[in-house]
Amino acid sequence: MSKVTFLGTGASTAVPVINCRCTTCRSDSRYNKRLRPSVLIEKNRKKILIDVGPDIRMQAVRYKIKKIDVLILTHAHFDHIAGLDDLRIFNRIQEKPIRCYLLKETFKEIKIKFDHFFKRNLKHHTQGAKFDFHVLDGKKQNFRFEDMSFEYFSYFQDSKKVLGVRVDDFAYITDIKRYDEKIFKKLMNLDVLVLSALRHQKSDVHFNIKEAIEFIKIVKPKKAYLTHLGHEIEYLRDSKKLLKNVFLAYDGLEIKF
Ligand SMILES: [Zn+2]
Ligand SMILES: [Zn+2]
Repeated sequence: MSKVTFLGTGASTAVPVINCRCTTCRSDSRYNKRLRPSVLIEKNRKKILIDVGPDIRMQAVRYKIKKIDVLILTHAHFDHIAGLDDLRIFNRIQEKPIRCYLLKETFKEIKIKFDHFFKRNLKHHTQGAKFDFHVLDGKKQNFRFEDMSFEYFSYFQDSKKVLGVRVDDFAYITDIKRYDEKIFKKLMNLDVLVLSALRHQKSDVHFNIKEAIEFIKIVKPKKAYLTHLGHEIEYLRDSKKLLKNVFLAYDGLEIKF
């Protein structure tokens, strides 16, 4: 049995949004407190982190993360990579670089945004985190880590290519807006699909709730959880408007697959 913990289920601004007085942002409910989107998968005693946003330090402390065996990056937007440097603590604990899987497009951006990772010979280098990058070029459709197999695929958020990943009958798809219908072949017979949905209103770069539901109706997972939720989504009110096998994810939610 494998387990997924949602470390964060918020959109890029997180919820509450700085200085916002909307219903969701003023809510006391824990279901309306959302850090930047990330999940931790635990399988065969291995811990796989998907994305590492600016809240990672707080998330690692809150959920008592003791190690990270594999890091998977979906794409190089701030809310998914800003915490990379904070993972240096795990280099110390594990005494080795963290194995990281990412698309070649994402790697190109990481090299620019985190150039200090690649300049270790300079005299005044900072103490950046160390990674063992495994760049996915799309020639193979999967990658392996020890006895675990991951299938991956890609889709688009505006012009940016984003990685989706499937482990057994669990799939994680975030920051999706455009996709090729070939993606559906990768998503057959899922127990759990995690899918991003920003809000009810349309967005140029994200599925809204309606688009997410349409996608789910095609994929037909046993259960689907929506994540990357903006403050326009109020947990109790909006949970009632979904299909019976579709749920809003919340920070701290654990699911088995
Ligand atoms: Zn708000
Ligand atoms: Zn995002």
